[in-house]
Amino acid sequence: MRILILSDIHSNLEALQACLEAAPARDKVANLGDIVGYGGSPNEVTEAARKLGGMLVRGNHDKACTGLMGMEDFNPVAAIAALWTRQALTPENTQWLKLMPRGPLFLPLRYPMNQEETWAGSETDGVQLVHGSPLDEDEYVLVVRDAQESLLRSNYPLTFFGHTHIQGGFAYENERWETIRPIYQGGDQQETWVLDLSSQAKYLINPGSVGQPRDGDPRAAFCVFDPDRYEVTFYRVPYNIEKAQQHILAAHLPDRLATRLAEGR
Ligand code: ZN
Repeated sequence: MRILILSDIHSNLEALQACLEAAPARDKVANLGDIVGYGGSPNEVTEAARKLGGMLVRGNHDKACTGLMGMEDFNPVAAIAALWTRQALTPENTQWLKLMPRGPLFLPLRYPMNQEETWAGSETDGVQLVHGSPLDEDEYVLVVRDAQESLLRSNYPLTFFGHTHIQGGFAYENERWETIRPIYQGGDQQETWVLDLSSQAKYLINPGSVGQPRDGDPRAAFCVFDPDRYEVTFYRVPYNIEKAQQHILAAHLPDRLATRLAEGR
């Protein structure tokens, strides 16, 4: 079984399309939120996310861009983009984004769960999905210290999170903490890096950001989880950055939102 895990698409249609083309055939899709905000194609990306479906959790930009949350915590550039996105989104897309559920959500893997069935499995039969952290949907898990409370308290071996736009994550095994960072050659080709999961460890795993990577690698990021092989494959995918930048500049959004795409910052 393969589960495609996407996060932080941020209205970047070119990056999303490149990731979907690069991704292998999948059985399920998980989307960790921040579908909109920053980028220049909010309606196109929301419609692509609706079509893709799967299990979704909302991000802070999904809330700000639909009026569910104020912008007090946003920097000026993010706030300008959120205001523009509010105006650009169609009423139908706004409504759909507003209805995205708050994390954490539980994605069952071993048994299908539908409306007639009640879930009878245990925590180890699925994974947890969040935008920020399992404790707070808006919290940034940037360093091991941020991950410790979540991992100690979690009953789930595996939690997927987004929000930081940094691919990798954190592991806790035998009272030891570890930071996970995929190792790539770099450049502008497509690359993958496989993490063999330990059955003894608890993980917080970040697929990275599809539409606005901030880990120094401008290539679009996502991951694929295979519960049978118990491994996560991280992807970095080149895409048409210039075209994504043109959408941002054509919308008269701040230049910085365009230039940062080429830097991966
Ligand atoms: Zn984000």
